[in-house]
Amino acid sequence: MSVRVKKPIRFIFFLLLTIAFIFAATMFALKYLLVKFIAEDEPTGIEVVQNSPENKNPEPTPTVEPTSAPTVAPTSSPEAKAVSANTSIANQDDGKWNLVLVNKNSPLPEGFSPTLSNIDSSRKFDSRAIGYLNAMLAQMRSDGVGNIWAQSTYRPHSTQINLFNESIQKYKNQGYSAAEAEAKTLQTINRPGTSEHELGLAVDFNYVTNDFKNTAEYAWLIEHAQDYGFILRYPANKVDKTFVNYEPWHWRYVGIDHAKKIKELGFCLEEYIEYLNGGNTTTV
Ligand SMILES: [Zn+2]
Repeated sequence: MSVRVKKPIRFIFFLLLTIAFIFAATMFALKYLLVKFIAEDEPTGIEVVQNSPENKNPEPTPTVEPTSAPTVAPTSSPEAKAVSANTSIANQDDGKWNLVLVNKNSPLPEGFSPTLSNIDSSRKFDSRAIGYLNAMLAQMRSDGVGNIWAQSTYRPHSTQINLFNESIQKYKNQGYSAAEAEAKTLQTINRPGTSEHELGLAVDFNYVTNDFKNTAEYAWLIEHAQDYGFILRYPANKVDKTFVNYEPWHWRYVGIDHAKKIKELGFCLEEYIEYLNGGNTTTV
């Protein structure tokens, strides 16, 4: 009788022991696999970037980046590469190429030729800045002020020469002298070599008219363009410094830190460069 009772108890005991062992082995294996998968994901940097404070907004806006660090961050850091891959924004502000001053007293060197990328089939922009332009336009459309397009961007030197000469000829045909025709042309067209459009960092929006200043798109740019590294290049109150009349349609890429600082100081680019040459830095 006692043997009959003990046998089932032993059987159940061993059964439970076996189940416990299998359970423990399974849990161990699961834990090992889980740790392994997490460890394999980390080196991609994608999770790290998505969870970082800079990337809470799914739209690739550089707006929440800290003021001083990002645009001077080394391009070789893994995080910078990950951000670039995620947002198509190259982070290559060395404080030189993006602050090149072009005006009537400061022409581009002969043979200047920037590295360009295509905005569409006919328009080009500096390859290092095109990501910022595209991100800005995308954000405008996302914010409901999407009646915006880049009408005129990079202009080859030869095109600027043609524009300039055609305008002079037009005024001559109207009876103006050569000197008068050139003076009238210079009111709206920069002398070849002194146009920012040859630099590849300037963009004229929409119909390139003064009416642009009355649009929601212009108001948006005035409020946000600095977050994408753009400044209104020819403000109404800086004509004596820029030598160019107020152009609400013409925006210039200078980099985020510089654009923010220029706006904060209420400077035009000429004044800002003078300010930097005076020993100040963007982190002041
Ligand atoms: Zn322009």
